Amino acid sequence: MRSYTQGKRATKGYKNRDMNDETYKLRRAVIDIMYEFKDRYSIPRQTVRIVDRVHGTETHDGWHNVIGYAGMGGNYVHILSSWAGKSRRKLLPLVAHEVCHSVKAIEHDDNCLLMSPIIVDMTEEQVWKHCDKYLK
Ligand SMILES: [Zn+2]
Repeated sequence: MRSYTQGKRATKGYKNRDMNDETYKLRRAVIDIMYEFKDRYSIPRQTVRIVDRVHGTETHDGWHNVIGYAGMGGNYVHILSSWAGKSRRKLLPLVAHEVCHSVKAIEHDDNCLLMSPIIVDMTEEQVWKHCDKYLK
């Protein structure tokens, strides 16, 4: 998903998680993947936040189940806490999708495995192949 907010604050209906050991660990998992992007591609520094859905509050239309979002060309990525703790197999395609929004303002594309609005399982090789297309 894409965001309509500034980098450090969560978007409508979401809030930044308080920094504690658990949040730190979740953020670390996303940042570790972010380092792999920095190794492979020339990308600017990214702001990473772990967010929670604020139950009972409004979101942008259709955003209730959003698991991550990014600023279009805004160099920030926010990941839902329940997804930041998932396995690399789940987390890598999500972070890759958001990085493409965040760094290059890549739009959604229903015909692209990576940039489809629905995050799907991808192999490691598929993820990097798609990222090469957008981020190289
Ligand atoms: Zn998206």
